[in-house]
Amino acid sequence: MEALQEVQTIVYQFGNKTADGNSKMKNLLGGKGANLAEMSAIGVPVPPGFTITTEVCTEYNRLGKDATIKMLEEDVAMSITNIESIMDAKFGDSENPLLISVRSGARVSMPGMMDTVLNLGLNDEVVQGLVDKTNNERFAWDSYRRFIQMYGGVVLGMKPESKDDIDPFEEIMEHLKEKRDIQLDTQFTVQDLKDLVYDFKDIVKKRTGHDFPTDPWEQLWGAVMAVFDSWNGDRAIYYRTMNGYPADWGTAVNVQAMVYGNMGENSGTGVCFTRDAGTGENVFNGEYLIDAQGEDVVAGVRTPQQVTKLGSERWAKLAKIEEADRLENYPSLEELMPSIYEELKQYQDVLEKHYRDMQDMEFTIQEGKLWILQTRNGKRTGAAMVKIAMDLLKEGLIDEQECLLRIEPNKLDELLHPIFDPRALKMANVIAQGLPASPGAATGQIVFFADEARMYKNTILTRIETSPEDLEGMNLAKGILTARGGMTSHAAVVARGMGKCCISGAGALKIDYKKRVLTVDGKEYHQGDWISLNGSTGNIIEGKVATMEPELSGEFAQIMTLTDRYATMEVRANADTPKDAKIARSFGANGIGLTRTEHMFFEIDRIRAMREMILADTVKGRKHALQELLPMQRSDFEAIFEVMEGLPVTVRLLDPPLHEFVPHQLATQKELAEDMHISLAAVKNKVAELEEFNPMLGHRGCRLGNTYPEITEMQTRAIIEAALNLKEKGITTKPEIMVPLVGTSNEFIEQEKVIRETANKVFKERNDSIEYLVGTMIEIPRAALMASEIAKRADFFSFGTNDLTQMAFGYSRDDASKFLPVYIEKGILKVDPFEVLDQEGVGQLIQMGTERGRDTKPDLKVGICGEHGGEPSSVEFCHNTAMNYVSCSPFRVPIARLASAQAAVRAAR
Ligand code: PEP
Ligand code: MG
Repeated sequence: MEALQEVQTIVYQFGNKTADGNSKMKNLLGGKGANLAEMSAIGVPVPPGFTITTEVCTEYNRLGKDATIKMLEEDVAMSITNIESIMDAKFGDSENPLLISVRSGARVSMPGMMDTVLNLGLNDEVVQGLVDKTNNERFAWDSYRRFIQMYGGVVLGMKPESKDDIDPFEEIMEHLKEKRDIQLDTQFTVQDLKDLVYDFKDIVKKRTGHDFPTDPWEQLWGAVMAVFDSWNGDRAIYYRTMNGYPADWGTAVNVQAMVYGNMGENSGTGVCFTRDAGTGENVFNGEYLIDAQGEDVVAGVRTPQQVTKLGSERWAKLAKIEEADRLENYPSLEELMPSIYEELKQYQDVLEKHYRDMQDMEFTIQEGKLWILQTRNGKRTGAAMVKIAMDLLKEGLIDEQECLLRIEPNKLDELLHPIFDPRALKMANVIAQGLPASPGAATGQIVFFADEARMYKNTILTRIETSPEDLEGMNLAKGILTARGGMTSHAAVVARGMGKCCISGAGALKIDYKKRVLTVDGKEYHQGDWISLNGSTGNIIEGKVATMEPELSGEFAQIMTLTDRYATMEVRANADTPKDAKIARSFGANGIGLTRTEHMFFEIDRIRAMREMILADTVKGRKHALQELLPMQRSDFEAIFEVMEGLPVTVRLLDPPLHEFVPHQLATQKELAEDMHISLAAVKNKVAELEEFNPMLGHRGCRLGNTYPEITEMQTRAIIEAALNLKEKGITTKPEIMVPLVGTSNEFIEQEKVIRETANKVFKERNDSIEYLVGTMIEIPRAALMASEIAKRADFFSFGTNDLTQMAFGYSRDDASKFLPVYIEKGILKVDPFEVLDQEGVGQLIQMGTERGRDTKPDLKVGICGEHGGEPSSVEFCHNTAMNYVSCSPFRVPIARLASAQAAVRAAR
């Protein structure tokens, strides 16, 4: 076999605004390498470097270490020389040292799964060069100790040996901290850092039997091979297997010059966004710190300054800082380093146009020279996502289809939650203001620790600052409030990603974790006190504030209009009340796909009549009770039909196990006995009689209508009379009567007969008629199998995927929570099949049911009304199954409309 380097390029260089590769070469250069090449090629100043291809990784597994080094030697030496000339520094030189980073980079991002070594190239001589060059002894020695620690762990295998073991380097640091009675790494003196370096080297020698490598080239080869090895590390293998990535993809290795923002007053580092990640507004913004490292900006320990003058002025206003004070202590980058700012602004424009999306960029200024370290599509709130997509469309950067695909359906959920009622806001007592880090309205009780976020139903996690360990608590809380940190602090970035309301950097807050007290302007707020956050203005409000329902407006409405242009499958709503129907209609539902009539009987005056009906021993007794229920049902249907004027409304006949309605408490049983003039014992007997071993498979669905046809009669009469009443008022209705839980065609035929006969009877009585359909739910596997038979009589099918999932898996809907979480944790199931449709298994039943139904009746109307009707991937499946509609809860209608349009766009592509 020919050697790899003779047949193709194995090392790709980038830097100095040129590159050998580009962003399309992800398979060969890995995602990171391809993007670095792309950025460099379009003229963005990325720290120079080179990428060793993924193919070399595969070769390495075959050839081993020595042969691989031999193969790479010449190209890597040449590439290092190239970096040296661009950076005007020398690798391994003790006077003008060049330090490098070595990172993995597979074709897909595998966060934290593989290894990285930073500050490579340091040894006892070089560190001295770094001290002289930077005039910063502390920085140089801190870099050195970090390097030994990283290299020791990644390359020399000095990691904790078991879960209970601690990192040997951390252990040394902990001892020193104890000895010196300090808590933080930042409290180490230069001498401490020097001691650490020597102690680290000692432990390396003790553990590995070898000295820590001092030759930078030996360090480099060690790191490159370690990155290759990490592709076959346990973590990476687990991640690959979980995601189905093949082992022969391999990882690329990216070697890049290190740049430092902590080299004095003309150095700095920051993060910037090409648009506002909270609101989507098209304004360049960001934060930076002079003489700092990347972590310093996001850690929230120092107050970051704003990149733009406008941002800085806005920030100062919120923080109540005078203009003179702002200019002196917190100038913007625009004011402090105008030419660097102009350069940065130009690159943000280039990068946004190039990637055609909002970018989140990291930059470093090293001694007056700007470097762009990384760019990626920025995380954003739901509101910003919608506005940015619509703006990019209007600016001509993307087309309509792309605009639709840019919206993450589930993220729309954020726009569908309540907002503060503006009238209530006027009277609100604003106690302080912070940065509007993530918009939204949150009202809750104060908790100070992430693991207490569950303590009340609604909590506001109130912290000095947050850290990655707080993630779960942040997710549970209704809102997040921090005293420190800017718009790019951990809290802000994470909250925006979660779409959670967050106010950061509210400097007026004094938080005492020990006492669990928040003090603002001398007033104390304790754990459990109510506060409200307005994430859009940064206002912190005392007590609760009333909220109101959101509506479709602005760009959100425009996106929804766009969905109608592309979607071919309609979206209906599951709604049992006129209120739900109104919400559904305001969100653009094309009709109602499921009205669960049993939900209409839970109100106090109705449940009594319902109970009488259930407990009746004779048809006469039952009919008497049904007679009482009829007017109530009729008026319910009238109200819903009226809201949905002109649109189809599917009303499902009574479905639930009857015992759900019978009284189980003695007091209610007594009341019922009195009402019905029967003995308590008789009521008790009947309750016992109705008890079922397996109610989900018991006397429910059409089994009720088939055993007690008078229920079907009453419901049909109520539907038809309601429609006729509205017709008299000039209101058009399109009722669709749906028979639940059919398993055999005869079950349907029997019910259909009762429905048609009753309807005809009413038509005759009223001397008038309306159009209506009679169809069935397909929610029992046998119904899907027998669909061609059932379709002979049914006007439509609606897949009840809640029951279909229950019965296909044999998982009780009521008991699955006992084992599903364990199944998911163990990977036996990837997701909860009651949330995300099991396309592989249950999906077959749906496809087969649809096909067989349409074999009999080509224009059979088919929809879905299980919970899956509002879940984007399931909606796409329904589109691909050529369904006519999905039906979901009212608040998910916009999500389903978008998912339906996206499915159509993707299918057409
Ligand atoms: C279903 O089974 O999917 C369905 C919509 O009906 P229900 O949830 O009421 O059983
Ligand atoms: Mg069902």
